[in-house]
Amino acid sequence: MHADIVVLPGDGIGPEIVAATLPVLEAVASRYGHAFSFAEHDIGGVAIDRHGEPLPAATLEAARRADAVLLGAVGGPKWSDPNAKVRPEQGLLAIRKALGLFANLRPVRPHAAALGASPIKSELLQGVDIMVVRELTGGIYFGDKTRSETEATDLCRYSVVEIERVVRSAAALARARRGHLTSVDKANVLETSRLWRDVTTRVMRDEFPDVTLEHQLVDSMAMHLLSKPRAYDVIVTENMFGDILTDEASMLAGSLGLLASASLGSGKVGIYEPIHGSAPDIAGKGIANPYATILSAAMLLRHSLGLEAEAAAVEAAVSSALDAKVFTADLAAAGQGVDTRTAAQAVVDRLA
Ligand code: ATP
Ligand code: MG
Repeated sequence: MHADIVVLPGDGIGPEIVAATLPVLEAVASRYGHAFSFAEHDIGGVAIDRHGEPLPAATLEAARRADAVLLGAVGGPKWSDPNAKVRPEQGLLAIRKALGLFANLRPVRPHAAALGASPIKSELLQGVDIMVVRELTGGIYFGDKTRSETEATDLCRYSVVEIERVVRSAAALARARRGHLTSVDKANVLETSRLWRDVTTRVMRDEFPDVTLEHQLVDSMAMHLLSKPRAYDVIVTENMFGDILTDEASMLAGSLGLLASASLGSGKVGIYEPIHGSAPDIAGKGIANPYATILSAAMLLRHSLGLEAEAAAVEAAVSSALDAKVFTADLAAAGQGVDTRTAAQAVVDRLA
């Protein structure tokens, strides 16, 4: 197949990890007979510097026309003045919104060779394979805000349509995995959560009778995620709970440098990016871990291009490189570790 992939390297280590990932996609293209074209555009701080805005119109236009978007990271100390009018992160929020991306997928599958990097006991982690789906467009982060001398408010609202569409995405993933969906809310106190629970129950009963549904309150979910992570398959939740639970879940896998994400909407185009930030402390040194970005590219192959075998081959190649202890500094013993390029090349070699 032919696919147009828009590449947004962004800031900090973004350009390094993206540059290391493109050869992996090229190796997939040549092994499986596909043609991928890559078009680079600016987003984030680099876009502010060059165009005066974090999401230039040309970047958004290219993303709209593309089959998928691969993103590095945005932000950094250069643009973090709290009084600044424009910030790199606004570019990310704006492109997600413009593309209608409402479901943020974060797979958490601790790799055997990296278990020691997690603060959680290894025996709890063996066999953990969770997909967290966070709603991305509604809830308290987007509700009206007020502020006076003496108080402040944040409005939390959710519509039936917003809940239905993210639950359907999560349920479809559960159906293709182990057939179990855990919906997380706070229905004992929040009205939006009672709506969430009602809509989820109806959608699952009417459209996914083959997927088992379990409701969890967010406070007990936070506990169970660490005490019995193996019990979960797909977890779906609203925006703020998802923000908090996905960061918590990421600790199960050890290094931030191993965690991929996809942001999807109702169309095919999605944005694929590592969950970590621009890591300004190591930017420019060529030592960043590229695996999270490579695993994000695997999600791109699976979810935007429908290339399941190719996605699985990339994931297997990363696993094999980790098995062979091809570790960057974040995973290796102190003072050791290979550079970004070497780690990425280990994946390319295993795909060839
Ligand atoms: P953001 O606000 O953009 O999410 P952050 O403040 O959460 O950023 P990160 O940029 O994610 O921070 O970095 C957190 C720590 O993890 C830093 O010490 C950074 O060097 C390290 N880190 C992040 N990504 C990687 C990577 N790919 N390889 C190695 N180390 C990384
Ligand atoms: Mg962060």
